[in-house]
Amino acid sequence: MEGSKGKVNDPDTFKNPCAICHKRPATRYCDYIIGYSDLQMFIRDFQQLRANNGPDYETCDVPMCDECAKNIGREMDFCPYHFELYQKAKEIPEELRKAQARVKMQINTELLHGSD
Ligand SMILES: [Zn+2]
Ligand SMILES: [Zn+2]
Repeated sequence: MEGSKGKVNDPDTFKNPCAICHKRPATRYCDYIIGYSDLQMFIRDFQQLRANNGPDYETCDVPMCDECAKNIGREMDFCPYHFELYQKAKEIPEELRKAQARVKMQINTELLHGSD
């Protein structure tokens, strides 16, 4: 065991191994959005935020190989865990779906007729 990192030429050792199978090097990161930045919270770091000019959301970023990544569209890959969540998220229970439809209809009606 040599202790010098970065000089390892062992093919079984990757700098950035896949977090799912640990067998292949990671080639992509999970794009699932796990949180949005609340600007209010970042006021004190505002200048830094502006300097970085980064995205205002945070993604999962689990490193994955081609085999383990779940591609859900152009340049969008989810880790298996978030892929499952994503599929569940699309199918909400019947009860909630009814409530959802009711509110959407209400909003549409208000938009159509306008509120004084
Ligand atoms: Zn993998
Ligand atoms: Zn993920």
